Amino acid sequence: MPHLDTYPISAECVRVTQTRTNPDPGEVSLGADARAVLRQVGTALDADRRLQVRNGGLVDIGKPATPKENGNGERQGKTRSAARSRQRSSRREGPAGGSRPASTVARICGGVLRAAYEGQVTNLKGAYPSLRVFPDDKGMWLLAESSIISGLTRRATFLVALPFQAGAGTKAWGFWTSAAETKWIGPRHTNFGDGSICAFSQQDQAWFEGGDLRTLVDLYSVWALRHLHLEVFGRWPGKQYALGDDPRVQAYYRLRQCHDDERCGCGSVTKRYADCHKPLDFEWNFVELATLFGRMYPGGFATRRPPPPVVDFIEGRSALPSIATVHPQVAPR
Ligand SMILES: [Zn+2]
Repeated sequence: MPHLDTYPISAECVRVTQTRTNPDPGEVSLGADARAVLRQVGTALDADRRLQVRNGGLVDIGKPATPKENGNGERQGKTRSAARSRQRSSRREGPAGGSRPASTVARICGGVLRAAYEGQVTNLKGAYPSLRVFPDDKGMWLLAESSIISGLTRRATFLVALPFQAGAGTKAWGFWTSAAETKWIGPRHTNFGDGSICAFSQQDQAWFEGGDLRTLVDLYSVWALRHLHLEVFGRWPGKQYALGDDPRVQAYYRLRQCHDDERCGCGSVTKRYADCHKPLDFEWNFVELATLFGRMYPGGFATRRPPPPVVDFIEGRSALPSIATVHPQVAPR
């Protein structure tokens, strides 16, 4: 399996925001084979195993490479290990307008990100053939479709803002798209404030600003698969994190978001929520937690919605907004 080379530009992980709405239950119709693959990948995520993403965004658990297999069935594609041990697509939601460490900014100089991203367009198009790239005053937009699993009639479409301003960070939104309709992917593991994708946490060091864009979109593909798993099987697969650093905020977040049979939102890779933090979380006064949460995150969970200009573009009603319009960390001038 080829390794992904990332640009060693920054030691800081880019915070990716996430947004999402739950698709209507029962809406997805998956054949038995596709359901089996989805369950298999979910089990791999629960076990914190690495995954593969094939060209076009098909996610699977991969298989150990053997010399005999070279040149055989792997042909349609290069696979990339989208979930190298750290790529686990654990997510951390945050407010859309968080500040970034000054050290990140200091390490990346103007023009470096532009060169890093523009130089990757050909490779990214090889991995995601539907890719379209749009220029922007402050960076570039990517629009890419991902197949997720074989047999799924809809696709995941990702709209990705890549600012050239060091330290601003990427921001992306995911939508289920088909000939008939478009539906935002969320709200689980999307960011507060703008419903953008939260596909991994900083501590996982899955991707860095200026890094391999194939890896970034692969992470989004795995994130979309996890949403599909939630929709089909009723639970979020794999490692996940609660919001913030305050233990009361984390407890409230888990109480609101984690299902008993999901991995605990403390980031555990082995324990279910019911067997880990849930009893402790219930020891807090729920009303006090909710009040505190509401003070720290005004509007709370309801703010996880995509900005109207993004939805309007995806649904074909308007042109792309400027990145500065939907990305608070990008200076308009
Ligand atoms: Zn826990």
